[in-house]
Amino acid sequence: MTVRLRAHHLLCLLTFVGKGYTPAFTAHYRRLVARLNEGEAVELVEGPDDICAPMLAEPEHHCRNASVVRRDALARAEIAGLLGRPLDTGRAIALTAERVEQMRWAFAKGAIRTACAGCQWSAFCTETAGEGFARTRFAGSAISPSGGCRTPD
Ligand code: SF4
Repeated sequence: MTVRLRAHHLLCLLTFVGKGYTPAFTAHYRRLVARLNEGEAVELVEGPDDICAPMLAEPEHHCRNASVVRRDALARAEIAGLLGRPLDTGRAIALTAERVEQMRWAFAKGAIRTACAGCQWSAFCTETAGEGFARTRFAGSAISPSGGCRTPD
């Protein structure tokens, strides 16, 4: 199994403290984070992903908006540059604790946050990073991730 994620959610994961749009959304998000921390790999997707899933029944929600698709493109480019690897759609990526530390460092410096412009959570995420991510739940996997039939790298 893999967790299907759109690119900008690689950023949002870093500052997830258990809050979100609805109780169902946050409960689902917590389960996904636990799976990632236990070593499940990520498959990058275009558009709505496993985090979006509980919100997709709401026609007004932003998951399919063009502005969010742009957010994905910006995050994909900056994170790929940071990690020194392409973030191709459909490719599995291992979110190791080492990579999460690398992303946290860059996020806190503002080096991979172009995608955050205009986001309603931006001040919260800045504050969370400023606290050294102390309240966050996503730490990455300490073990080699599994990616089903795909080999994560
Ligand atoms: S500011 Fe918005 S896009 Fe950026 S990490 Fe926070 S929730 Fe995600």
